[in-house]
Amino acid sequence: TSIFSAVEMAPRDPILGLNEAFGADTRTTKVNLGVGVYFDESGKIPLLDAVKRAEKTRIESLPARGYQPIEGAPAYNQAVQKLLFGNDSPLLAEGRVVTAQALGGTGALKVGADYLRRLLPDAKVYISDPSWENHRALFETAGFTVETYPYYDAAARGVNFDGMAACLKSLPAGSIVVLHACCHNPTGADLTEAQWREIIEITKARGLVGFLDMAYQGFADGIAEDALALNLFAASGLQFVVSSSFSKSFSLYGERVGALSIVTASKDESARVMSQIKRTIRTNYSNPPTHGGSVVAAVLSSPELRNVWETELAGMRDRIRTMRQSFVQKLQAKGVAQDFSFIIKQRGMFSYTGLSADQVARMQNEFGVYAVSTGRICVAAMNTRNIDYVVDAVAAVL
Ligand code: PLP
Repeated sequence: TSIFSAVEMAPRDPILGLNEAFGADTRTTKVNLGVGVYFDESGKIPLLDAVKRAEKTRIESLPARGYQPIEGAPAYNQAVQKLLFGNDSPLLAEGRVVTAQALGGTGALKVGADYLRRLLPDAKVYISDPSWENHRALFETAGFTVETYPYYDAAARGVNFDGMAACLKSLPAGSIVVLHACCHNPTGADLTEAQWREIIEITKARGLVGFLDMAYQGFADGIAEDALALNLFAASGLQFVVSSSFSKSFSLYGERVGALSIVTASKDESARVMSQIKRTIRTNYSNPPTHGGSVVAAVLSSPELRNVWETELAGMRDRIRTMRQSFVQKLQAKGVAQDFSFIIKQRGMFSYTGLSADQVARMQNEFGVYAVSTGRICVAAMNTRNIDYVVDAVAAVL
């Protein structure tokens, strides 16, 4: 018999499963709000002009494809640090940040999780309830026990901050707390500055380890504005971990461009921590690919291309905001009594609409409008051509 004969079928990834169902749907009016990808007004994943220009230059120079250093290109890693912490961050001057290029935000989370598992083998990991669906699996696969802290208050359509703070105050020292730095996925509900300050106080008082996941820098208020949580952590003197991604902000999903950054207490600690991170990477995939990272580094280090990118990123941000407003207005205009104005306040690509699993199923069956069963929709998948149809579908199932 085959060694695989008893292998069970693993459960389908819920979101990728939704994509498959969408792909198989033959209705021409179908709309996929289930994905976590930014689409432009024409319904396409954009190839940013800044990226095109940097790619053209790179490809024309026909670079050799040698191995990268284990931690990736120094120019890329330095550019990432400046984007996260600001050009003039004292942390950077003091050598207290180590950064390794990673395979997207997911790769950064994986390397960070594997490293922390060796550093803190007895720690538990706490993720928000709810969270990005891969957080739990990633940390469990690294060997951790994963639990949740209260986060979303469905009735109030916002953060259950008291519940979150009370839970974090009860955690044992050394617990790892995964925090969404901005644009919380899936709820779109973020902490205020005052709330971040309180979380940092609790983190400090309880000796917790913050792991800030930033997959959407620039999608809420702006590049520097969205780094608020990181910079408050930086100013606190704490050590913490950051996973970041250019999948969304550069529309480079398939190139797998992200980074793991760790803030230490000193330059000397940084050197030792980096040596351990390199060990983790070496035994995973040895070193990262060249293309995406070099394109991002080229854009970030050229004042001209950076300007182009910032304008394009602002364009994506503004379009999402317009779609949020338009969605709420159109629901009102349609005579929907329920107040959906909370959708305007949610940040990033996603909205927790409050639609039930049954309502989501009806939208899918009756209209071919696909959303996650939790009621999460990707606002960035709406455009001026499909929004009326989506509004019709929502109004019909309410
Ligand atoms: N973290 C969060 C909260 C996300 O929403 C995502 C992507 O959806 C990621 C990490 C992973 O990003 P990447 O596609 O760069 O691996």
